[in-house]
Amino acid sequence: MKEDTHRELNQIVAQLKGHLKYQKALGITTLLSQGVRRERLTLDGIKQELGACTRCRLHEGRNHLVFGEGDPHARLVFVGEGPGRDEDLQGKPFVGRAGELLTRIIEAIDLTREEVYIANIVKCRPPQNRNPRPDEIQTCLPFLLKQLEAIRPRIICALGTFAAQTLLETEEKISALRGHFHAYQGAKLMPTYHPAFLLRNPHSKRAVWEDMKQIKEEYKKG
Ligand code: URA
Repeated sequence: MKEDTHRELNQIVAQLKGHLKYQKALGITTLLSQGVRRERLTLDGIKQELGACTRCRLHEGRNHLVFGEGDPHARLVFVGEGPGRDEDLQGKPFVGRAGELLTRIIEAIDLTREEVYIANIVKCRPPQNRNPRPDEIQTCLPFLLKQLEAIRPRIICALGTFAAQTLLETEEKISALRGHFHAYQGAKLMPTYHPAFLLRNPHSKRAVWEDMKQIKEEYKKG
């Protein structure tokens, strides 16, 4: 088989695998369910299902579960890693220092926080802001996937390593993933550096601006 055809076939198989995993996370376990009508997910319904979640250990230290906020019909969704101290105290995503920078990034592409939706890979703050662990991510992920399914954004911006690697199911570095769109469940997903990383590495702002310009162009297409 020609190398190109082989690569293409591998990509199709990988996408199909990803799609089936995504469907499973949404609770769809049978194929050929044509004609079976599934109720459309709503953010309120997902919030209710989540309830006062105790599904993983992160609930033990939390003040607030941070569900996500913004336009339920947003065309653009930002996905971060998990709440920090300020987010845990306020119950809102990206409201601390990194959040202020994210707000400025959103405004730089002529949008407001109210026009987009902002969520995280995990909904409760990891102690001392440590990285979320694989089992915590896997426990929380179905709820984010349902949020994405309810919102059906055209564009997703994955902020940082955890969001990009988790959604794209890859271990590739964020530096290699960023800079171009990836196909993701009918949406276009742009990985970029996390605002907290930018606060420590201001020279990477240029790269984020390049990514955001692509998002802006794509967003303008409607
Ligand atoms: N960092 C994140 O990844 N998410 C937040 O909500 C805040 C900081």
